[in-house]
Amino acid sequence: MIKSETKDLEKIYEKINSEENKMVEFLGEMIKIRALDPRSGGEGEYAKAKWLENELKKMGFKVEWYNCPDDRVPSKVRPSLVVREEGNDKSKTLWIVTHTDIVPEGDLKKWNTDPYKPFVKDGKIFGRGVEDNGQELVASLFALKSLKELGIKPKINVALAFVADEETGSEKGIKYLIEKKLFKKEDLIVVPDGGNSDGTLVEVAEKSIAWIKFTIEGKQSHASMPHLGKNAMRAGMRLGILIDEKLHEKFSKKNELFDPPVSTFEPTKKEANVPNINTIPGEDVFYFDCRVLPEYKLSDVMSTIEECVKKIEKEYDVKVRIEKMQFEDAAPTTPVDAPVVKLLIESVKKVYKNQPKPGGIGGGTCAAIFRRAGYNAVVWAKLDDTCHGPNEYAIIDNLIGDAKVYATMMS
Ligand SMILES: [Zn+2]
Repeated sequence: MIKSETKDLEKIYEKINSEENKMVEFLGEMIKIRALDPRSGGEGEYAKAKWLENELKKMGFKVEWYNCPDDRVPSKVRPSLVVREEGNDKSKTLWIVTHTDIVPEGDLKKWNTDPYKPFVKDGKIFGRGVEDNGQELVASLFALKSLKELGIKPKINVALAFVADEETGSEKGIKYLIEKKLFKKEDLIVVPDGGNSDGTLVEVAEKSIAWIKFTIEGKQSHASMPHLGKNAMRAGMRLGILIDEKLHEKFSKKNELFDPPVSTFEPTKKEANVPNINTIPGEDVFYFDCRVLPEYKLSDVMSTIEECVKKIEKEYDVKVRIEKMQFEDAAPTTPVDAPVVKLLIESVKKVYKNQPKPGGIGGGTCAAIFRRAGYNAVVWAKLDDTCHGPNEYAIIDNLIGDAKVYATMMS
């Protein structure tokens, strides 16, 4: 690194340190405004977006509104806001995409404080939405604000997107922005909506997910007269074991990006059948949760399952119904040598002096929407993952540190 760059970084870090109180206050004010999806009984993100626009203007940003129509909310729109800063190289843009919507507070009795009144204690700020996704929204904003106020021009264009509707499918948020063609293939996209507590997980891949329900139909009878019935539970147990064995046998590849590095096939939920011990159940219902490495296709997993089902149907003279409760092939993986991955890892290392690594996770994130649309996106943040639960908190040191990471990426 050349000397002036090091000097700039030092100045930026100092500036961000000096903004700590303002950042905490900003985050606290922001979470007072609920931004809930109409399906969760909310009015959407409009009020929060209005507040945010006002704050952004005070900082000297020009604010772009992208209003996705939605008749279910009073404002009739689900707004996403974008602010930009031009870089020395204008050919591509570094995007940091955070969301303004939240999930409901859940059981209030489990909260120690009012979820919509920010509460600061022991270096943490508590409240609904402080970690998911307020921490990163504020971190990205104050990173850009610091550069702007110091008169440091970003290396490439920088854009911050504060999007709607992340918690319930992104249909009226990220997907809408992709439709509006805001992004270019060569852009660097960070979605800081997940991570781990030491900031070492740079998420570039995910497993496919299939939740499958099996209903075995036999014939109920008295337990002393099994020849008059067809025991659905015995067939169900056999089927469960057969599926378990066959799937593990056939889909056994390893991929060290993931923890665990294998596909997982777990029998999980079991529905109650008959209430008494002396009845042979005529119906048996159980479920599998499958998380499959992206090198496999879920349709191949299904074929194996169907073979098992046919075998059991024949052997036990029962009928088996298969229902897909959730069924989604993984999005393409972001290559570990993609510019956004390299830049992020370098920047995280510089700030936290840790060893961040690209990795995969077992469930879908909103980065998958970008990847499916052909953009390289990564998920990263340093957080304790308290989101969606009671007593959600953000660690103030993470707020400051992550702002430095984004500022490093920008400068
Ligand atoms: Zn989130």
